[in-house]
Amino acid sequence: MVGHNHPAVTDALRDQLENGTLFTHPHELLGEAAEAIKDRWDPIDLVRFTNSGTESTMHAIRLARAYSGREKVLKIEGSYHGAHDYVLLSKSVPAHKLGHPKQPTTVIESEGVPEAIADTVEIGPWNDLDAIESILEENATEIGTLIVEPIVMNVGVTQPHGEYLQGLRELCDEYNVVLIFDEVKTGVKIAPGGATEYYGVEPDLVTMAKSIGGNMPVGAFGGREDIMREIENGTAHYGTYNGNPLVLRAVTTVLNEVLTDDAYDHVDALGDRLATGYEEIMADVGLAGHVEQVNSQGIVVFTDEEINNYRDFDEHVDVEFHENYWFAMLERGVLPHPHHASQQWTISVQHEDEHIDRHLEAFKDVAPMLA
Ligand code: PLP
Repeated sequence: MVGHNHPAVTDALRDQLENGTLFTHPHELLGEAAEAIKDRWDPIDLVRFTNSGTESTMHAIRLARAYSGREKVLKIEGSYHGAHDYVLLSKSVPAHKLGHPKQPTTVIESEGVPEAIADTVEIGPWNDLDAIESILEENATEIGTLIVEPIVMNVGVTQPHGEYLQGLRELCDEYNVVLIFDEVKTGVKIAPGGATEYYGVEPDLVTMAKSIGGNMPVGAFGGREDIMREIENGTAHYGTYNGNPLVLRAVTTVLNEVLTDDAYDHVDALGDRLATGYEEIMADVGLAGHVEQVNSQGIVVFTDEEINNYRDFDEHVDVEFHENYWFAMLERGVLPHPHHASQQWTISVQHEDEHIDRHLEAFKDVAPMLA
């Protein structure tokens, strides 16, 4: 959300280069960065640093397994939590492999992920609390961890509906399951304290990464003291570059200097303008579609159907149609997210009204061709 080459981050990094980039023992910036994160997340008593979101979810899951004493993890269908074996499961699932909507099949996402790993992960549907309860009930002595993206940001911007998140919290309490919010995409972007603050639901552990680092390779995981202290009791968290001073200087600059209250007002207002602009243009030309938006994060989906979870998205969003939109926007000098129809925009603190105007002008031109 800081955008490219933010001058405050670039200056801080230049300064840090002169002061050392790797000490391999504790240093002041660790405390400063940890305090900045704890100020934003009430449920975080202790925090540790990594180099990526992948490492953060890997360590948080290991910690949750150690604390709960149970090996099985419950993961949501369609969510992405990084590139390690324990989560490369049921991200993009071909329709014929999905299984029952209330009890999805665990589908291996990549060659090389062992079956034995897949056997330790159950898959549940987003926005279906009854289904999650049944899975927890059936695996009550085995599942000790539930990991979720509190908004499924690898399936558009798919919010939790009604009391879903609060319901997950209550189920985790009932079944003694460690609840992990993977805030790699939501953290510090949808609110200063991420989805945890935005929805007012407290997880046991939080993972975060790119959004706190001003484009430097960083990650973090933190949470309840009694769980985090497992790391002192035999649960490994290693890594030469963990919490190195160069990336932590970016973190403290981003959290303390760049993402101020004014910055949130700025990006949230631009996010609202972009979303409203899209909706108006689609209505004007009779193009089916709507915007899913939370503050600086948003996505246009060319369907009027409601998107509640991965299966809805897969069924109703036509990826090839989206590519036509993508190329037409590109030809007009606007580059929407290049990865896939499921990926959202982020308004940065360096965007201004003129960028939103230019984006909407391009879409005004493109929309009639798609209608
Ligand atoms: N978790 C979520 C929700 C993500 O979206 C991502 C990456 O996009 C990751 C984890 C992995 O982060 P990284 O690419 O830093 O390993």
